[in-house]
Amino acid sequence: MHDDGFHVYDTTLRDGAQQEGLNLSVADKIAIARHLDDLGVGFIEGGWPGANPKDTEFFRHARTELDLKHAQLAAFGATRRAGAKAADDPLVAALRESGAPVVTLVAKSHDRHVELALRTTLEENLAMIRDTVSHLRTEGQRVFLDAEHFFDGYRSNPAYALEVVRTAAEAGADVVALCDTNGGMLPDELADVVAAVAEAGARLGVHCHDDSGCAVANTLAAVSAGVTHVQGCANGYGERSGNANLFTVVGNLQLKRGYDLGVRLGEMTRVAHAVSEVTNVAPSSQQPYVGTSAFAHKAGLHASAVKVDPMLYQHIDPELVGNDMRMLISSMAGRASVELKGRELGYELSGEKAKQVVGRVKELEASGYTFEAADASFELLLREEVEGARTRFFTVESWRTIVERRTDGTLMSEATVKLNAKGERIVATGEGNGPVNALDRALRLALERIYPELSALELVDYKVRILEGTHGTEARTRVLIESSDSTGEWGTVGVQDDVIAASWDALEESVTYCLLRAGHTPA
Ligand SMILES: [Zn+2]
Repeated sequence: MHDDGFHVYDTTLRDGAQQEGLNLSVADKIAIARHLDDLGVGFIEGGWPGANPKDTEFFRHARTELDLKHAQLAAFGATRRAGAKAADDPLVAALRESGAPVVTLVAKSHDRHVELALRTTLEENLAMIRDTVSHLRTEGQRVFLDAEHFFDGYRSNPAYALEVVRTAAEAGADVVALCDTNGGMLPDELADVVAAVAEAGARLGVHCHDDSGCAVANTLAAVSAGVTHVQGCANGYGERSGNANLFTVVGNLQLKRGYDLGVRLGEMTRVAHAVSEVTNVAPSSQQPYVGTSAFAHKAGLHASAVKVDPMLYQHIDPELVGNDMRMLISSMAGRASVELKGRELGYELSGEKAKQVVGRVKELEASGYTFEAADASFELLLREEVEGARTRFFTVESWRTIVERRTDGTLMSEATVKLNAKGERIVATGEGNGPVNALDRALRLALERIYPELSALELVDYKVRILEGTHGTEARTRVLIESSDSTGEWGTVGVQDDVIAASWDALEESVTYCLLRAGHTPA
């Protein structure tokens, strides 16, 4: 465990899981907790045991299946009911029995919410906080308090909001996290409130939502104003516009403010993507620090300067967060970016060779190709230019596909491919829910016996675009395919008059690249 001076508190499994379309199983939660622990966060809020059966289950599994190296688990729950005793409240009992060393209690701090939502008196709300915090403390758990709607409450009744903070701290809460539950605050006003509350003497934390687009900025402003506990979610998950992105917060604090939070930033890009694999939410390529575009350069002019000194055009060295500088290949790119991209792939391109590649790229782009999302196609092109021959593991004799509409109205596609690999002639047939799917199956069926690695190949995404014809030429079809195996993803492109032919080209390159990655030597 890292020292207690500054808390990095993750709430992906509780607040982040509120995101629309995000549905985590117990196994998913365990997997995400492991990734966050690997990264080195201090606290992982696992959910609300007692209130949510899946969360009760999570804490039970966590006891035997989670061997956390850095983080401590926190159970989230509410203060006792009005008019009862904390010791007799079944929901408080569930927190006690969760086995979590830390309990984070949510309490109302906005007077109108106490009266309208909780339907109790302001006095009783304070008693509920006092009783529940001190009960859990006596039973041996560490207690943090989330002061819900704190900033709006402070605006409505500052004296009462402050009283909530004081009551919790006096009852033994180690941290009172001020929550911008509605997410509408702006950094300067939020910082003013934090500074005023800091005088109450309690250790403060902050929990921000991104409804004004300021969750990260608000969190940083709160840190400047004195909080020593920050809450947030992996990849900024959360309901509505999301919670503060914990990765961005931590990147900023460690790299720009010099905090040592014990977070292994070099693992951050990997962890961000691993978590999005589990949540099945496509990662944003533009996400600060960890997005695939976060350090990608496009313009040619720009690229020549990047070659001289990369730090002229990036705010940090991408390696610090486990990301890398990716050069996008586009018609704007000049020789410098091709040389750089070549070096990234392990090729030293002489001036003449680089010029030749730029020529090829421009020519292909003019006929409809794009390499920005087709890194694998670009690498194959580069290899061809450098080695003087196309990388091939098989040669295609022919392929064909048919689509059949049956009397019952269903559609069925079938494809046959004929090819030669390792001196063998292979004929294979595949069926699928469409002609491209059938071709993909037939191609793999033909090659899998010789190259078993292909069974791990998956098509992740398939995009078709019809390109307008220009200068009297016909419209053409561009297909982009995103593929993956167990260790990474790559993109390929095909451009033809016909959509199936374009798809075949992209498929063939995807399979070729997969075999290259697997370490095979071209035939
Ligand atoms: Zn929240």
